[in-house]
Amino acid sequence: MRVLVVGSGGREHALAWALSRSPAVERLLVAPGNGGTAAIAENLPIPATDIEALAVAAREHRVDLVVAGPEDPLARGLTDVLARQGIPVFGPSAAAARIESSKAWAKEIMTAAGIPTARAERYTELGAALRALGDQQYPLVVKASGLAAGKGAVICQDQREAERTLRWMMEEGGLGEAGREVLLEEYLSGREVSFLAITDGETTYPLIPACDYKRIGDGDTGPNTGGMGAYAPVPWVDETLRQEILQRVVLPAIGELGRRGIPYRGVLYAGLMLTAEGPKVLEFNCRFGDPETQAVLPLLDGDLAPLLYAAATGRLAEVPAPTWQPLVCITVVVASAGYPGSYRTGFPITGLDRVPDDVLVFHAGTQREPDGTIVTAGGRVLALTATGPTFESARRRVYSAVELIQFEGMTYRHDIAAREVDPWPA
Ligand code: ATP
Repeated sequence: MRVLVVGSGGREHALAWALSRSPAVERLLVAPGNGGTAAIAENLPIPATDIEALAVAAREHRVDLVVAGPEDPLARGLTDVLARQGIPVFGPSAAAARIESSKAWAKEIMTAAGIPTARAERYTELGAALRALGDQQYPLVVKASGLAAGKGAVICQDQREAERTLRWMMEEGGLGEAGREVLLEEYLSGREVSFLAITDGETTYPLIPACDYKRIGDGDTGPNTGGMGAYAPVPWVDETLRQEILQRVVLPAIGELGRRGIPYRGVLYAGLMLTAEGPKVLEFNCRFGDPETQAVLPLLDGDLAPLLYAAATGRLAEVPAPTWQPLVCITVVVASAGYPGSYRTGFPITGLDRVPDDVLVFHAGTQREPDGTIVTAGGRVLALTATGPTFESARRRVYSAVELIQFEGMTYRHDIAAREVDPWPA
């Protein structure tokens, strides 16, 4: 099978890595890819958002399966365009991807399907939203409805902060079109977990749950990022809770879309808060998480390619549910100084050749220079990943490898999965 992975981050390197190990994959392309995917696949210099050029390339290279990494091409209709050419895509149609690209619509789906979620009101006019602020409880979450690359949810401690945030989103266009429609959402407290499932709209196979770390700093301090690390599985999400999440959240969402004539194919990602009243949805995403994927795929016990192909072609029931190695996996993101704000790139990365074989190095913002040097090319640069029988051993393994890497201004969090070693405060 010829497979094209779309995207250029650590998630796409992890997907390409898993696919490159498949005996079913005879040719692997990545568009546009990065310095890491260049070593295991052919990079095509096509931006992930250039749907037409991706369609041409898929045709030219006689691709059998396209695997979409990020949400943007899905929201722009990558799957729909390729379906017209008869090329299956692992990833939903633009209509189904709205579950991520419109948080207002996602709330509507959840309400219709009776899925537990934070209470929210939707506003398209600043005046009405400002008038509603007096009646809210604080903290309050002000959320842009559209795609905002992780910057769309602001937890406001008081009315003044909420007003400032609303003006920034709705008046000043701080998030562009994404923030013209907003939700005022109830603040939920609890532990957060990412629950992903692969589906063809009829059959659904959950993946192991994962936790990601969104803030830049140790102890969950500083601004939100695309994600600074992750681990899987999550010991406190037991089989009973997994079943509850599947039955009360994932299956009802897929079922509701199906009833509306919008079959969902691909991976459905539920970002959940485990509250005192049970799991509640914070958001749905229409694609694999980054960096959760880097911590989940190394534990997959089997071949990823047939699973994704079966989901993309509506035949998931014909392949067995994925099984998992009885280990834990931790991924630590190494970032450029300044990220998630502005940062400089082009710094040579050293130490990659010293990383032991049992640690995976997924590239995100890197570039391979003509002389073979790998240089930094983004905010999140690498995701180092290690498995182990315990969180303690996996942490030791991954952080020893992180310490071998060097580039100017390199930063990372030191506490990924630490709470599973020194348990959470009560
Ligand atoms: P992402 O990049 O994950 O898609 P986003 O901009 O779509 O981010 P959300 O995922 O909805 O925004 O929220 C980002 C983070 O904000 C969540 O992971 C969670 O930590 C926090 N958050 C969002 N909604 C709530 C809520 N209702 N109560 C408490 N915290 C919340």
